[in-house]
Amino acid sequence: MPQKTKHTPMMEQYFNIKADYEDAFLFYRLGDFYEMFYDDAIKASQILELTLTSRNKNADDPIPMCGIPHHAAAGYIDTLIDKGYKVALCEQVEDPRETKGMVKREVVQLITPGTVMASKGLSAKENNYLSAIVWDAQTNHFGFSYADLSTGELKAAVLATPDSVVNEASAIQTKEIILGSEIPDSLKEILAQRLNVVFSTQENELVSSELSYLVANIDSDLTKAASIKLLTYLSETQKRSLGHLQQVQEYQPADYLKMDHYSKFNLELAQSIRTGKKQGTLLWLLDETKTAMGGRLLKQWLDRPLIDEKAIVKRQNMVQSLLDSFFERADIQENLTKVYDLERLAGRIAFGSVNGRDLIQLKTSLNQVPVVEQLVRGIDQGQWTGLLEDLDPVADVADLIERAINEEAPLTITEGSVIKNGYNEQLDVYREAMTNGKQWLAELEAKEREATGIKTLKIGFNRVFGYFIEVSKGQINNVPEGRYERKQTLSNAERFITPELKETERLILEAEEKSKGLEYQLFIQVRDQIKSAISRIQVLAHGIATVDVLQSFATVSEKYGYVRPTLTSQSRDLELIEGRHPVVEKVMGHQEYVPNSVELPKGTDIMLITGPNMSGKSTYMRQLALTVIMAQMGCFVPAEKANMPIFDQIFTRIGASDDLISGQSTFMVEMMEANEALRHATPQSLILFDEIGRGTATYDGMALAEAIIHYIHRHVHAKTLFSTHYHELTMLENSLDNLINCHVGAVEKDGEVVFLHKMLAGPADKSYGIHVAKLAGLPTELLTQASQILNALENGTHLSEEDLSVEVSQLDLFAGQDQTNNDVICDLNALDLTTMTPLEALNALNDLQKKMTK
Ligand code: ADP
Ligand code: MG
Repeated sequence: MPQKTKHTPMMEQYFNIKADYEDAFLFYRLGDFYEMFYDDAIKASQILELTLTSRNKNADDPIPMCGIPHHAAAGYIDTLIDKGYKVALCEQVEDPRETKGMVKREVVQLITPGTVMASKGLSAKENNYLSAIVWDAQTNHFGFSYADLSTGELKAAVLATPDSVVNEASAIQTKEIILGSEIPDSLKEILAQRLNVVFSTQENELVSSELSYLVANIDSDLTKAASIKLLTYLSETQKRSLGHLQQVQEYQPADYLKMDHYSKFNLELAQSIRTGKKQGTLLWLLDETKTAMGGRLLKQWLDRPLIDEKAIVKRQNMVQSLLDSFFERADIQENLTKVYDLERLAGRIAFGSVNGRDLIQLKTSLNQVPVVEQLVRGIDQGQWTGLLEDLDPVADVADLIERAINEEAPLTITEGSVIKNGYNEQLDVYREAMTNGKQWLAELEAKEREATGIKTLKIGFNRVFGYFIEVSKGQINNVPEGRYERKQTLSNAERFITPELKETERLILEAEEKSKGLEYQLFIQVRDQIKSAISRIQVLAHGIATVDVLQSFATVSEKYGYVRPTLTSQSRDLELIEGRHPVVEKVMGHQEYVPNSVELPKGTDIMLITGPNMSGKSTYMRQLALTVIMAQMGCFVPAEKANMPIFDQIFTRIGASDDLISGQSTFMVEMMEANEALRHATPQSLILFDEIGRGTATYDGMALAEAIIHYIHRHVHAKTLFSTHYHELTMLENSLDNLINCHVGAVEKDGEVVFLHKMLAGPADKSYGIHVAKLAGLPTELLTQASQILNALENGTHLSEEDLSVEVSQLDLFAGQDQTNNDVICDLNALDLTTMTPLEALNALNDLQKKMTK
């Protein structure tokens, strides 16, 4: 940036302010525009497609500049925030008309991805989180705190490892992280690599008394420090009331079913791997919520399934009672659709950014509550205790809005028409004056027509001249001398004013102005009065959200025929009869889906699954994981019958999806995921290893896979589903007591292999590779030879070059063909089928075939 010295006072001011907001776009208010200068201007003009101009065009060093009309700023700000930038709004904080010299300017708000409040920048069913992390070098622990400024939610936890910091931050999809300077660079790097976030810093920590009570209830110094950092940042960037922030709730990740971010990603809980969207995920399946708050709470429950048996059963009981009462449930749903986003409305009330229409929405929402409460009470047989108390309709607020706010209030709060007649006497007086004045004008018009005999005489109004009497040019001679004072001449008419008209004009305009001012004041009073009820509105919002999620569970469970699972933390018996993968079933239809049981009684820890490609191994494993998650959220599950232990953690290594975000190799990710599981799983955990070892050379892959199974069997004892293409591993059943084999069935029909997608006991048949090759349409001769080679291998003999050429000549396959074909035979002979996956075999055959047709 150029030297400050030789600039105008205005640019001096600009530099001084900009110095404090280096990492933000500074929107510098100049009249009706926000201007940006220098690099800000150059960058913003590209991102926002604005025209880049310059200040001091003719000077030696013109200043790059671009501007936005202030009334259109919101859209531009949204765009910048959406792309991960920050915007500092710098306003004139003095009235320019009353100031000599430079108008004082200040940044009144720093808008960042983690602090957006405007409803346009937020998606209704998603939270928008800002987090803060602090580190204690002595204990090597982290304090993690996060808030949704739009809803007022504030939570914090102590985390023991960088991994768990990454897990928590990614689970809540935080948009922005505030880091203290003590945070090790290594953690910062991991966070930057794994998460798509903006970083911010906050050093001095002075929580205002308004905010200090929010952290008053915290026990741990670390969570307190993180929360204070977060609150300080919020108050310093937002510079206004944050009265809707709720007291910090401390939580322990260990109180919930633990899943690392790999698993959540792999299982497609809330985000499709392919598209990154909600469509096709478990969240998409479960979401029949009717309110924005319910949608957000559902996602929170999905991120943190329960492990406490009592708490799960409580949710199940409520779902059951909703399932048992079809009509009440339909009515509850119906009423919920009329409930607006109470949490965010409460936030905007505290923030001071609500208008009359918002308050009408608040009233409409509150008015639904008594009905919902009655309906819930009607089906309650003790299951809803605790929740019913939260459904207080905050009637005083609804009543206040009903009395004060116009049903058709406009979007602005300064232009009048917000407050109802009859709410305030003085306002009624002004309004009467306005109405009377207008009435009086009509009478005056009639009177003047009569007096002058000018039938076309009329009374009008414009902003510049106020009220006037207009007479057309042709009638001008009839205008009475003296009483009419000329005000304006138009091409075909003259406009006059009379002393009487002037006086009435004064009364009307004064009344109008005063009433607008008074309306504004009254509105602020109403808003402040509601402010004092914010915490009650928030309790209600949470109650409504809970009812909404539970009705969503009931609706989904009924729609897809789910059963109530029996869960217990006492037992380790897993019995899932005729289970289905809920999302695949929804997509392909119930009729098409082949149900499968998972039975792992006590004493059986590991299920080794073999079967050809595309037979349904991965689907089977995911099915179990999703069922466990649904069950521990309190929802019913896709099965005929389900008896399940309560799992403490789920570990997965599923699918061949590269970790696209971090760009790490598949095999490295595979091993990292395996490591997580082997080190942290307990006998109460669930491990899903899908074709582990596949990402490396055959022998060391198989060796690792076998060693991993031994290790789990010996040390971990977690319930484990292990799918593999290493057929050799099925032999482990003979030596490992707690391992069973199963495979996906296939039948031959008219010489073709048909996968049944059905799990059967015992190991799979090995010759699927050739069947698959046959399905792919490879030449019969080639397949025959492959079968012969396989037979020989199975008998422990290797076909020699000679044997093979005999076989080949018998087949008369390549008679009379050239060298290429001989090469192909040699290649074919060299294939080691015992160590190939069906897919590798298929690829090899495909290569050979290509070689021949060349
Ligand atoms: P694998 O992991 O054995 O290669 P997948 O689990 O990926 O197989 O399944 C392959 C395809 O088979 C899936 O995309 C799905 O369409 C279908 N499929 C899997 N399981 C079932 C089932 N139980 N019923 C019906 N179709 C299934
Ligand atoms: Mg698979």
